[in-house]
Amino acid sequence: MADYICNQCNKKFSRKWNALRHNKQIHHELAIVYNKATGVDFKNSKESNTTTNYDPFYEQEIEDLNIVDIFGKLMQPFIELEKELVDVKESDKINYISTLIIGALRSSDPVKIIQDAVDFNRSVKGKVKIVNYVAKHMQIPNVQAEQYLNQIIKSSRYFKNYSKTNKIRY
Ligand SMILES: [Zn+2]
Repeated sequence: MADYICNQCNKKFSRKWNALRHNKQIHHELAIVYNKATGVDFKNSKESNTTTNYDPFYEQEIEDLNIVDIFGKLMQPFIELEKELVDVKESDKINYISTLIIGALRSSDPVKIIQDAVDFNRSVKGKVKIVNYVAKHMQIPNVQAEQYLNQIIKSSRYFKNYSKTNKIRY
């Protein structure tokens, strides 16, 4: 059922709010949405005197802006990731970041994929530090301290509960 029509491009909508959103996003609120059955006009809040011609290139412009927006959303985890990788060799970093971002952008939730990568790298680095502290305290090699900590974790109740809820990562 398409009751609402945009007078600029004749696009049809079943819901008024969709039609008004379309008017806002595509026509800068310069189009008029009208109800086919009643003939009643629905204008968006803003009214302007500039040209009301429908511009197909404007749709392209919206797309380009949305793409920039999406990159913007990736920035917070991306900057964190770069910080975590500060000690990594440049060529390794190039491969890792490019592969990760391309994969993330193909997924349904790129922000989460990058955030997960940040958490993973942070955890790995943090583990190395903790192992180092324990090794020094116990005066044993790092490898041995790591095995010791792994063993404590594996036999803990926390780990058993944790493993049940996090069976498979990917
Ligand atoms: Zn339209």
